[in-house]
Amino acid sequence: MNIILLGPPGAGKGTQARKLVAERGMVQLSTGDMLREAKSSGTEMGNKVAAIMDAGQLVTDEIVIGLIEEKLEGDHAGGFIFDGFPRTLPQADALGELLAKHGTTLDAVIEMRVDDEALVARITARSTCASCGEVYNDQMKPIPDDGKCANCGGTEFKRRADDNEESLRTRLMEYYKKTSPLIGYYYAKGDLSPINGLGEIDVVAKAISKILDA
Ligand code: AMP
Repeated sequence: MNIILLGPPGAGKGTQARKLVAERGMVQLSTGDMLREAKSSGTEMGNKVAAIMDAGQLVTDEIVIGLIEEKLEGDHAGGFIFDGFPRTLPQADALGELLAKHGTTLDAVIEMRVDDEALVARITARSTCASCGEVYNDQMKPIPDDGKCANCGGTEFKRRADDNEESLRTRLMEYYKKTSPLIGYYYAKGDLSPINGLGEIDVVAKAISKILDA
């Protein structure tokens, strides 16, 4: 089963994708994670995209489509969760073509709806474990009292360079201008399942499971 988690920055795509990986053995393909990895390891591509990402703008379709194309070559028995990809109409077309080339299709596009105010509150309170990437939030899911990551025991946590109000404003505008047209694109194909992304993590996870099991 291949699915897309579609939603604005801070909607909880990464958090839900990690749960699906743990519970269903699916493979998470986060273009944001791939780009951050390239950025921190200082590859040529990473250096090229660093400033664009920090400013909250989208990197070129060519780069992200290339990243996804590489990953689709690997094992996909458990299915893929596309997290943060596609973000533009050309990316959506490219994904359809790539999946067809691999003899597979998209099973569901889950649109996670969260209002802007909640997104700002979530993102400015977000941190991740430096070792395993588990996502924490000062309000909804605080770092445990013993200061250790609940997933891996790591003790170092970091905040993303683009998780500040200014970048977030740009990221939201990029979402509304370039990504939200995908809602209509997938609705027209009959693939879209909207859910309320505002609830507790487990409540949102149940709503996603219900769609996947239907
Ligand atoms: P994310 O972790 O999904 O919030 O992505 C972080 C940043 O990486 C975005 O603000 C963009 O700069 C870049 N990025 C991630 N995925 C894409 C994509 N599919 N298309 C263009 N830029 C992307």
